[in-house]
Amino acid sequence: MKTEPCPNCGNSARVARGNYRFEEFGLPVELMRIEMIKCSHCGSVDPIIPNMDGLMTAVALEVICSTSLLHGEEIRFLRKCIGKSAQEFSRLLHVDHTHLSKVENNRREVGPRLDKLVRFVVINLSPDLKDVIDRLLEQLPNIEDSCYTRPEIQIDPSTLQREYA
Ligand SMILES: [Zn+2]
Repeated sequence: MKTEPCPNCGNSARVARGNYRFEEFGLPVELMRIEMIKCSHCGSVDPIIPNMDGLMTAVALEVICSTSLLHGEEIRFLRKCIGKSAQEFSRLLHVDHTHLSKVENNRREVGPRLDKLVRFVVINLSPDLKDVIDRLLEQLPNIEDSCYTRPEIQIDPSTLQREYA
């Protein structure tokens, strides 16, 4: 049986593989078949993420090429991926920063045009995403014009491949 020290209490804990609901990006992300440190002493469960930067890029790619209108949490996540403050990002998008804040908090819908602008600005400011511009252009006519569903992103952190239920 594989064990690792628990990051929370330091006791020796079991390493098990399973699916993990990952909350750190503020989006519904499910990590598939990932190794986790499961501590029987304090009850903490910690995923072992092999490539955090790669995971962030893979999730950003899924969000950018999604056919649902962007939700507030997704816009905030994309903004953080390119390391922009709310002020800087609102200046790039030519929107008032209080408007951007309402959109990020789901108090105002993003609207179809700002949605596209967010995607293109983010994709062009991120060196790891630039090569997917063709995929975004292909998806462009399919993006919904208002918010309906927010699909959960299921991703295998070792292959960084999206899984479809
Ligand atoms: Zn523990």
